[in-house]
Amino acid sequence: MTKFEALGLKQSILNAISDLGFESPSEVQEKAIPILLESETDLVALAQTGTGKTAAFGFPLIQKIDSASRTTQGLILSPTRELCLQITNELTLYSKYEKGVNVVAIYGGASITDQARQIKRGAQIVVATPGRMKDMIGRGLVDISKIDYCILDEADEMLNMGFMEDIKDILSNTPKEKSTWLFSATMPREVSVIAKKFMHSPQEITVGTKNSGATTVQHEYYVVGGRDRYPALKRLADTNPDIFSVIFCRTKRDTQKVAEKLIEDGYNAGALHGDLSQNQRDLVMNSFRKKQIQMLVATDVAARGIDVDDITHVINYQLPDEIETYTHRSGRTGRAGKSGISMVIITKSELRKIKAIENKIQQAFISKKIPTGMEICEIQLYHLANKIKDTKINEEVDNYLPAINDVLQGIDREELIKKIISVEFTRFFNYYNKTQDLNTPDSRDRGDREERGRSRDGDSRIPADGNVRYFINVGEKDGYDWMTLKDFLRDTVNLGQDDIFKVDVKESFSFFNTDASATEAILKTFTEFKVDGRFVNVEVSKSPGGGGGGGGRGRRDRSRSGGGRDSRDNDRNKGRRRDRSDSKGSSASSSGKRRTKRKSDSY
Ligand code: AMP
Repeated sequence: MTKFEALGLKQSILNAISDLGFESPSEVQEKAIPILLESETDLVALAQTGTGKTAAFGFPLIQKIDSASRTTQGLILSPTRELCLQITNELTLYSKYEKGVNVVAIYGGASITDQARQIKRGAQIVVATPGRMKDMIGRGLVDISKIDYCILDEADEMLNMGFMEDIKDILSNTPKEKSTWLFSATMPREVSVIAKKFMHSPQEITVGTKNSGATTVQHEYYVVGGRDRYPALKRLADTNPDIFSVIFCRTKRDTQKVAEKLIEDGYNAGALHGDLSQNQRDLVMNSFRKKQIQMLVATDVAARGIDVDDITHVINYQLPDEIETYTHRSGRTGRAGKSGISMVIITKSELRKIKAIENKIQQAFISKKIPTGMEICEIQLYHLANKIKDTKINEEVDNYLPAINDVLQGIDREELIKKIISVEFTRFFNYYNKTQDLNTPDSRDRGDREERGRSRDGDSRIPADGNVRYFINVGEKDGYDWMTLKDFLRDTVNLGQDDIFKVDVKESFSFFNTDASATEAILKTFTEFKVDGRFVNVEVSKSPGGGGGGGGRGRRDRSRSGGGRDSRDNDRNKGRRRDRSDSKGSSASSSGKRRTKRKSDSY
């Protein structure tokens, strides 16, 4: 007898389980299935996403419903469309050998008429998001007055998302004498309220530690200056070349911005947030599932229900306001028995939040340092060497070998290796060679960057590393951010993608760096340079220090063909913003005054 048989499941389900390749029940399945099969009871199960909870309620539900009847007998409420579809797919697989079982998903953003038609055909199990469910009940398109089982999945997430009233409303349309099974990763007060109000002496099971993050997740934090979040993120990505991650930002705007910057810097990134259409979100999620997107930048709400199992890293670009939300975020990694890392990029003043999270998840964070540029170069170097070693030889190359040999003749093995490695490595090196340690959050205030930047020959304007820092009399007021200003400079002076860096946009003026070799072209271009009749003035800054959101390509792998659709969307958005910024930039004059009242570089 297999372990699944011992739980009391019938043969048709056992056959489906065998097809799925599940060898033994997970903890939540072992605990929940016998209880749910043996009695008609309410149940509260505290279990994280990724513990196998869908099967924990799905197997008993399929076993218990009457597939010969077309009446809706089971209702599953879940927070998001993604999760709703995932549950529907799973239940369809579990019931593949059970004749006549019809599982229908209803969720917002898709045709309500199509969904109503499917329900009309007879759906013993309905999986729904609360908003659309309420809507369909209101229009008389679905009848849940005879259900025997109601499952609230990820109850804490549903309540987090503000579905409390909808859920109460939906439950008031269900019969009193039914069983309610509530699954939740955590037990905040609102979930207890629902449990008390709508459930009768529920049995309780807990998987793992109550309220804890998955134990397979390692939690790390990195202290950086507030404005170094983005370069820190890039370094974390570059330190983990095979990263497959979700990056959480607090707002839709930040989410879009970070994704755009990553795409601009050559990463396989995409944005997922509520301002995208459902269609765009589906495209992004498909690319992510196929790993064409390696770094998915998301808001908390949009990321709910992400059902991807092998996410290696969750990166908290900013910490969420609620500790509870951190648990949901970190739960996106370390799923299905795999290990994962949850990283937090944090400023010194936020450090106390780490303590609070540690108390909540009952797990200690590891304090880590953002790797230095040279450490990253070393990692990339070995990664590259291994990649070459593991590359499967394409036999087609044979046809071209004689010609290639001709080209490379006279180069010995060592030189050839150096050259091959340099093809990829030089770009990383050039970028990181110029960058500073990000682990000193208050270094700007101490002015040590200026110290480091002072020139060997005593000319304070030309720093030792050959970079020149400039002042330009346009800033945020004129509609620029670091990215649009970089584009403007690059286009105007006709420079390359990586030639402008350390762009730092202040309210009414900005700073940027170039290599000393570009100084002449820059100063020449901006002599008597006018946009819409207004002078735009560039001068070499007296304080050549760097910092800010700096650009530069930290990554060479631009094979983002599949992420392309998302990338294009982002690029389009960026284009729109640039247009707006440019027109603003040209209209916001008074530069003459500002030119003479120039402030000094503040760090
Ligand atoms: P869930 O917690 O329901 O989101 O499930 C997480 C993942 O684990 C899903 O991809 C399931 O297909 C898979 N899974 C569920 N139960 C088992 C099991 N007993 N053995 C192996 N994989 C499972």
